[in-house]
Amino acid sequence: MKLNANAETVLKQRYLIKDENGNPVETVDGMFHRVAKAIASADALHDEHADTDKTESIFYDMMTNLEFLPNSPTLMNAGRDLGQLSACFVLPVEDSMESIFEAIKQAALIHKSGGGTGFSFSRLRQEGSTVNSTGGVASGPISFMKVFNMATEAIKQGGSRRGANMGILRIDHPDILKFIDCKADNTEITNFNLSVGLTEEFMKAAEAGKDYDLVDPHTGETVKQLNARTVFNKIVDAAWRNGEPGIIFLDRLNRDNIVPEQGKIEATNPCGEQPLLPHESCNLGSINLTQMVKAEKGRKTFDWEKLERTVKQAVHFLDNVIEVNKYPLDQIEHTTKQTRKIGLGVMGWADSLLMMGIPYNTEEAVQLAEEVMSFITEKGRQASQQLAEVRGTFPLFEQSILPQDRPQRNGTITTIAPTGTLSIIGGCSSGVEPVFAYVFIRNIMDGTEMLEVNPILKEELEKRGLYSEGLMRRIAQEGAVSHIKELPEDIRRVFVSTHDISPEYHVRMQAAFQRHTDNAVSKTVNFSNEATREDVAKVYSLAFTLGCKGVTIYRDGSRDEQVLNIGKVK
Ligand code: ADP
Repeated sequence: MKLNANAETVLKQRYLIKDENGNPVETVDGMFHRVAKAIASADALHDEHADTDKTESIFYDMMTNLEFLPNSPTLMNAGRDLGQLSACFVLPVEDSMESIFEAIKQAALIHKSGGGTGFSFSRLRQEGSTVNSTGGVASGPISFMKVFNMATEAIKQGGSRRGANMGILRIDHPDILKFIDCKADNTEITNFNLSVGLTEEFMKAAEAGKDYDLVDPHTGETVKQLNARTVFNKIVDAAWRNGEPGIIFLDRLNRDNIVPEQGKIEATNPCGEQPLLPHESCNLGSINLTQMVKAEKGRKTFDWEKLERTVKQAVHFLDNVIEVNKYPLDQIEHTTKQTRKIGLGVMGWADSLLMMGIPYNTEEAVQLAEEVMSFITEKGRQASQQLAEVRGTFPLFEQSILPQDRPQRNGTITTIAPTGTLSIIGGCSSGVEPVFAYVFIRNIMDGTEMLEVNPILKEELEKRGLYSEGLMRRIAQEGAVSHIKELPEDIRRVFVSTHDISPEYHVRMQAAFQRHTDNAVSKTVNFSNEATREDVAKVYSLAFTLGCKGVTIYRDGSRDEQVLNIGKVK
């Protein structure tokens, strides 16, 4: 198996089945066999003569060759009693005590099983409005979010994953200003990512500097007007301060809602890449693009045949997951099986570019992104159509907005996830993000330091006889290969990292992938510490203009505890 040391560690700590003393009772190889067998078993539901052993070995090979990995809950739970295999859920929150606390209970069950939950709080009446039954005063969405947050805090997911949530509030909710600032001090609502749900109408009003209406969700009446540009600037200001809230474009999510008769899409999963209807869930999986690169006539390119084969097998895998999944609630099983959405995406994008010698921040890279993603979505659709011939379409296919002459098994095919842990297992760069840093210095327990070098950089430097530990330490300190003047120009140009790339190129890359992705793309646009509010505002407008479904930004150093630090120990 190709696993590196970090992958082994993560799998041992968090994925392998353990006994009551916390010692693993399966090997890494055993884990992949467990998953492959459980997922392949779904074939027998459609064909009693199905060769499930053959499917199992295809799935096993695809995972152990690190060509494709399903989302974490599938690796953790497939073939086990818990059996909950999805990463993404959206739950409805209606304007009643019953609904609010029902949602908290449902979220608790989902978190316990390793899934993440998203909610729209837009239906809750605003703070200070009256409550008919008691004559009391409503406490509003923000105070209820704190209750959701506390519940999440209390449930550590099986000792491995702490629950994650997305909280969304529409821009026209009367409490929107409080929502924008509610994470300002970074000590509250810490188990939530927040996004403001923007409408196209609002974006136009902001551009024109006009007022817009705030609407009481309970009565439907306009209660107040605010200047759209002022509110837009407040969102920008809050995000500039500490990265929150993000924004999502609700009209766009709903333009791609494949079954509008079922209601509106109001929320996404925690990292924003998967818009879903209330009570819908989705399982994700990612193709490791670094394993799809081949050498041809002395040049490296994508191996399109291998990619096509992998896409086809991955769609088969993810459709099987829907079948063998044990859902936390009957209602979620029902809603999920009505549309059978899957979310196939990619990881290792930046590393693949390095292998091919293409800098991330170039036209060529953006073009190639379009090419790769349109290929994956097209081949994924074909694979889903082939499955439909044998297994039937998803039940709401005829009601859906999809072309009726090409029956599909799955309502959506593609989603680009952050692949936070999957990319560690795959030993590649995460999702479609650029490389954050090429060299990390890791402190090991006995006080010694260990250098961790991006394998593609290492190989390239060794090939040219330039590799040395001293050089690696300098790269770690400088935080970028591009700053090392004595390195050859082409290496400094190709081995770009996050902060070498302009925010515009971050957004353009996101938009390139989004154009060919059914669901959404998880991506953070990184700014240097010196970036201004105007820089952030420009990126928000650009994301809107280029057709992104949302955008998240982060300004270096704007939180006390950030996940990744340049030049600091990991
Ligand atoms: P992984 O690499 O572990 O498969 P990703 O980083 O790709 O996960 O995240 C994909 C989705 O998985 C997230 O958007 C979210 O829905 C869910 N997720 C991620 N981390 C957590 C967590 N700690 N708790 C609950 N759900 C999570």
